[in-house]
Amino acid sequence: MPSTRVWGRLLGVNPAVVEGIEFDEAEQVLVAAVRVRRRDRDRCGVCSRRCPRYDAGRGRRRWRALDLGTVQAFVEADASRVRCREHGVVVSAVPWARHGAGHTRAFDDTVAWLATATSRSTVRQLMRIAWPTVGSIITRVRADIDARVDRLAGLRRIGIDEISYKKNHRYLTVVVDHDTGRLVWAAAGNDKPTLAAFFELLGPRRCARITHVSADAAAWIGRTVEQYCPDAIRCADPFHVVKWATDALDQVRRQTWNYARRQPGGSHKDRRGRTASAGTAQSMKRARWALWKNPENLTDHQRHKLAWIAKTDPRLYRAYLLKEGLRHVFAVGGQAGIEALQRWLAWAARCRIPEFVKLARTVRSELSAIHASLDHGLSNALIESTNTKIRLLTRLAFGFKRPDALISLALLALGGYRPELPDRTHT
Ligand SMILES: [Zn+2]
Repeated sequence: MPSTRVWGRLLGVNPAVVEGIEFDEAEQVLVAAVRVRRRDRDRCGVCSRRCPRYDAGRGRRRWRALDLGTVQAFVEADASRVRCREHGVVVSAVPWARHGAGHTRAFDDTVAWLATATSRSTVRQLMRIAWPTVGSIITRVRADIDARVDRLAGLRRIGIDEISYKKNHRYLTVVVDHDTGRLVWAAAGNDKPTLAAFFELLGPRRCARITHVSADAAAWIGRTVEQYCPDAIRCADPFHVVKWATDALDQVRRQTWNYARRQPGGSHKDRRGRTASAGTAQSMKRARWALWKNPENLTDHQRHKLAWIAKTDPRLYRAYLLKEGLRHVFAVGGQAGIEALQRWLAWAARCRIPEFVKLARTVRSELSAIHASLDHGLSNALIESTNTKIRLLTRLAFGFKRPDALISLALLALGGYRPELPDRTHT
């Protein structure tokens, strides 16, 4: 193989022609001068159609390629412009990079793969790029995948959810496919027009094929589903119902804690003069993880905490058991779940804890949706795990300025069409 072809392989620019290699001593980078072959020349950067040449553009341009060993590498080439009938005057396409990108396709693909597989700081340090750059790269890679696949094909049972992704109440509306566990759609906003955009995209024919829709009790979701999928069975999202119980439990815990710290010895001033809880109040504050976690995930220490709560505060312990009881309903599901729910409602109604009496009323008002969800097997761990994963991803979002990048990352990681590492067809 001639050495220019070897260089082409190394840099990921084949079938373009490598004309020369230079090592830039000042910047300590490798620069490869590359020429696009005649048959790939003068094509629109957007649609790849052959077009009349417009001008030389802004002359030579550089694209960052994957490092060669430890050395940063760049591809340099002419970036002339063409006039496309459809897209106007645009920079012409190059075979080694996506339109508008400052990185080669292989570089983009590697970053997208890493972003879904490892931590933020690992991607940044390994690839030597800033996090906002990762955002633009994954948005490009996702657009590329979206052009090839139809994420909305074959939808039958879907879940709709709103997820906060930033402080100040910024929300995403997300749609998951219950049958595959995939995230299929997401957009910024949590209102009727946002969700309507999803159903418009789905179109009337495919809307009619939706049989089940699970969601929390938000009125805007209910109304939109009613309008586009009037025949679909509405199911309560178990994740949200259990969260109602966790919230009620937390209110009870806070009351107990507030009471305990007002007792003699319940608080003291720390070194900076702030009031800190002490004694029972302190133990109560530290017990919150034990109360929130699922019993099967408790550490020995947390198990002891629970035993301590059972002894010192039977009311709080009862609240804990009520929360666990409701979780159990969805864990067993089906007819057994419906029967367990009946017993739970009777128990909660006379538990003399106002937060849970109120919760029992809320559950009763959503009963048909909850029954539907238990009936149709939407109570599986799948929904909860997708929800948890999306919520974990939103933590990464704090570095992104625009929600596009977060949505792209979520779709790449949870949408079923994972980005692939470049050039792995031979292995
Ligand atoms: Zn075009």
